[in-house]
Amino acid sequence: MKFYDAHNHLQDDRFAGRQAELVAASRAAGVARMVVNGSCEEDWPQVSGLAREFPDLVVPSFGYHPWFVGERTPRWREALVEFLDRTPGAVVGEIGLDRWKPGLSCDGQEEVFLAQLRLAAERNLAASIHCLQTWGRLLELLRTTPRPARGFLLHSYGGPAEMVPPLAKLGAHFGFPGYFMHDRKARQREAFKLVPADRLLIETDAPDQLLPDAANLHPLTDARTGRALNHPANLPDVYQFMADLRGEPLTTLAAQVEESFRRLFGAARAVDTGGPTLTIPLMSNDIIYPRSARETMAGWAYLPRFVDKIRLHLAGKLHTDYQENFAHKGFDAKWLQTAGLTAEQFIAVVKDTVTDAQVCDWVAKNVKKSAEEKAAFNQAVLNYGRENDPAVKARLQMRKEQSGLGHRDDLQCFVDYIDADEKRI
Ligand SMILES: [Zn+2]
Repeated sequence: MKFYDAHNHLQDDRFAGRQAELVAASRAAGVARMVVNGSCEEDWPQVSGLAREFPDLVVPSFGYHPWFVGERTPRWREALVEFLDRTPGAVVGEIGLDRWKPGLSCDGQEEVFLAQLRLAAERNLAASIHCLQTWGRLLELLRTTPRPARGFLLHSYGGPAEMVPPLAKLGAHFGFPGYFMHDRKARQREAFKLVPADRLLIETDAPDQLLPDAANLHPLTDARTGRALNHPANLPDVYQFMADLRGEPLTTLAAQVEESFRRLFGAARAVDTGGPTLTIPLMSNDIIYPRSARETMAGWAYLPRFVDKIRLHLAGKLHTDYQENFAHKGFDAKWLQTAGLTAEQFIAVVKDTVTDAQVCDWVAKNVKKSAEEKAAFNQAVLNYGRENDPAVKARLQMRKEQSGLGHRDDLQCFVDYIDADEKRI
C-alpha cells in the first residue's frame, strides 16, 4: 500500500540535517510522496534542494506562511515566482491567515495570502492553506478571489463542521493530521466525518502536530531543546486511524486518498528531464482537462483555457473531444478574432513560452484592447447559452444530455456545462 503525506515540513531546521534518514524510514513505512512546504524566503532553497535530492518523493511547495509574513523582503513575490518557475512540479504553500497566534500582527497577512492564491490560480497549481480562528473571513476571500481550478488544500482543517460543504463547493480538500487523534480533538474529528470521500487527504505536518504517545511509533527528539518531534514515517498510523473513524477498510481509504492527492498535486515525476516545465494540469485519469473558461489572464476570461488547449495540442495530448473546435471554431476562434490574431500567430507565441506569466505579459503588451472590449468578450463567453436564442438553448440541452447531465437545471450556459462535464462543479 502507498501512503501520501499531503503536508509536512521536511526542510525544518529542527530535523538538524537528518533528512536522508527520515526519508529512508518514511519510504520503508510505505510513504510514496510528500508535499514539503516552505514557509518563507529563507527556507525555499532548502525545499528545492530536497526536491532535487528526492525527486520521486518530494512535491516541492513554496509560499509565505502567515507567521513569517512580517519578515518578507520587498522582492518576495518575484522570488516566489522564480522558485515556482524553475522547480519542476512545484506547488504553492504554505500560505494562509492566522488570528490565533498570540502577538502575531495581522498586517499584510491578507494581502500576501491573496497575492499567493492568485499566483496559484493563474497557474492552476494546488495551494496549501493554513487557517486558524478566521474561517468566516477565509470563506469570504475564497469566494471572491480566483482559485486554482484543480482545487486547494485546507491543511489540518480545524474549522466548523457546517463549513465543510460550502468550502468543498469552492474546491477545498481537507487535510487530517495525526494531532487530531488526541482525545480532546473530538470536535475536529466530527467535522472530518462530513468531508466528501474524494476531498479527504492525510498529513503529518512533521515535525509538528505530534500523535498521542501510544500511536507514535517513530519517537524523535529535537537535540537542541529535548522536545519531541513528529516523524514523517508516522503517516500510516494516521491513515489507519482515519479508516477506523470513517468505518472503511484501509485499502479503500488509501486508494481514494491516492487519487485525490494525484488530482490535486499532480502525477509523480519519474526523472527530471531538465527541460521546461509546462504548467498544464496533470490529472490521474486519461483526459487532461484544460482550465475553466472562468479563469482569466490579462483581463480576458477563457484565455487560460485556450492556452492549456494549445499546450496540450503541442504536447500531442489534446483529447479528441477538444480537437474539432480547436483554434478555428467556438470560443477559441472568438478570442482570436477579438484579439486580432490568427491561430498560427498565437500558437507560435505559446510555443515560445514556458509559463503562464510569459504568455500573460505577451498578451498585455501586444493585444491592445479596451476594458470595454474585454468585458464584452467576457460577458459573451460566460453567458453563452443563457440568452433567449432557442437554437442555442436546444444545442446546450443536447450537449447536457449527451454527457448525462440533462437533469442538471443549474447548468444554464455553456461554461456551466463545460465545468460540470469536466467535473469541476
Ligand atoms: Zn504546516
